[in-house]
Amino acid sequence: MREMRRAVCPGSFDPVTNGHIDIVQRASALFDEVVVAVGVNKSKNRLFTPEERIEMLREACAGFENVRVDGFTGLLTDFCAQNGIQAIVKGLRAVSDFDYELQMAQMNASLTDVETVFVPTSPEYSFLASSLVKEVAMFGGDVSALVPDFVHRALTERLSRRPD
Ligand code: ADP
Repeated sequence: MREMRRAVCPGSFDPVTNGHIDIVQRASALFDEVVVAVGVNKSKNRLFTPEERIEMLREACAGFENVRVDGFTGLLTDFCAQNGIQAIVKGLRAVSDFDYELQMAQMNASLTDVETVFVPTSPEYSFLASSLVKEVAMFGGDVSALVPDFVHRALTERLSRRPD
């Protein structure tokens, strides 16, 4: 029997968007198992806690049988080694993503023999980023078509409680 082919979809997912879900679903068709790995490093300013981000992803990915969601700290390549993961799947939205993603892929390849697979974003999501969704929602824009319903509700609720 051949070895299980496992991939990781890493990110901060603050919060998960329909663009993320599209990439996870497409990765799940290519690999035996996909681990969505939520970076829980405390470096960036987040709207949702790691637990909330993981919970929302679990709900978003509940329909995909071979997908599981986990948190990770530290190096992604260490997480891959610990979980028997051979590939990192990243969505590429535009050329502006490419420079940084290429550099990361080459750095990760230099650390271990993990392979990075780039999946082109579906055109309807090419403008979509968690940061922009938060910004638009903060000013009352309608982002309901860009995130799952329960994420939209969580966003509305969280932003209504913020002092500024
Ligand atoms: P980070 O905050 O670490 O940059 P995100 O959580 O925003 O990452 O996204 C995680 C990964 O999901 C990105 O590195 C990218 O590969 C992919 N991604 C993000 N937005 C989209 C999108 N709209 N379409 C496809 N892939 C996306």
